[in-house]
Amino acid sequence: MITVTEARNHLFSLISPQPQEEVPLIHAAGRVLAQDAVARRDQPPFAASAMDGYAVKSAEVERHAMFKVIGESAAGHRFEGQVGAGQAARIFTGAPMPEGADFVVIQEDVDRKGDLISITGSPGNKGNVRPVGGDFRSGSRLSAPRLLRPEDVALLASMNVPRVQVARRPVVALISTGDELVMPGEDPGPDQIIASNTFGLKALLEGAGADVQMLPIARDTVSSLETAFGLAEGADLIITIGGASVGDHDLVGPVAESLGMQRAFYKVLMRPGKPLMAGKMGDAAMVGLPGNPVSAMICGVIFILPMIRAMLGLGTDMPPLLSAPLAADLAANGGREHYMRASLEGGEMTVFTNQDSSLLSVLSGANALVVRAPDDPAHKAGEQVVFLPL
Ligand code: AMP
Ligand code: MG
Repeated sequence: MITVTEARNHLFSLISPQPQEEVPLIHAAGRVLAQDAVARRDQPPFAASAMDGYAVKSAEVERHAMFKVIGESAAGHRFEGQVGAGQAARIFTGAPMPEGADFVVIQEDVDRKGDLISITGSPGNKGNVRPVGGDFRSGSRLSAPRLLRPEDVALLASMNVPRVQVARRPVVALISTGDELVMPGEDPGPDQIIASNTFGLKALLEGAGADVQMLPIARDTVSSLETAFGLAEGADLIITIGGASVGDHDLVGPVAESLGMQRAFYKVLMRPGKPLMAGKMGDAAMVGLPGNPVSAMICGVIFILPMIRAMLGLGTDMPPLLSAPLAADLAANGGREHYMRASLEGGEMTVFTNQDSSLLSVLSGANALVVRAPDDPAHKAGEQVVFLPL
């Protein structure tokens, strides 16, 4: 059996970076920028007032100084005149600074009678002026690759960039396998259960930027699996769930191989998720996930999310592990890397007692996976453990 890191490296070798496409800015959030975006103007494009007040010459600013108001500069409508000695222009936030003025006395520090103002407060030496290009200059870049967050989209809009080059979403085909499975909302027979993994994985992978297609559930027969693989054609990544162990009804491996799948590995030294299988099927990468719901979801986090990130051009580094002190003693680990369902609350990590890989209620109650190396010794309450946040 191979380690988790070895398995991940095999998986990276099965994929290639996605081609680029152009999308309008309104659809850019959550996409991965594939080419640097370049600002098309300075922001602000002119020196602008940061406050509502009066624009004057800084050399004249002192308590009790008086000025004559000769005009007004509002956002979108500059004052075309020149502010001379002893003069002021009424000004509002975001308005261009008039020629001759380099200081805004805030209106709270001013007493106005008709066209005359006097400084009543202590105006300090902060000019309340936003300099030209103080946010960014024309030509400055938002560098690719970068997962675009809402904050980035706002910046791109401000840069006057209406369209961006992004990595095309990888198309993922998800195939649940099993005679016992029906879809949520259907009427299950007495021996049936509801397919859950496809729903969890679809949500997980879409959140990472994939275009996930849930195919009809394949039955535990050669022909049904062949049909499912046929429907998956054109996907960049084909993921099967279940049917990958060595039981009599576990046909995923044999059927995939009969259709030309070149196996990269089978079985990983980890808990949960040991019966993981992967290979190349035509141009697509194929990963066979274990059927147990918790195993499938954890393999999604540990293996499939990094594949999606790599396909999108975000590299192959894993998010850094965090650490927290244990709330209670923790028994020694066995010989496989273990991803334990746990809850971080009030700065303390509680590792759940029941780690059965069929229990979705336990997974749903977890907000962390405590990562244990093979043969990690027992730990006392208060000792630090490392974890991946969920
Ligand atoms: P298998 O790997 O097919 O032997 O499945 C292992 C366990 O996972 C069995 O209890 C299956 O019923 C269950 N299982 C397989 N696929 C799914 C699925 N898509 N949703 C929920 N449970 C599943
Ligand atoms: Mg099965």
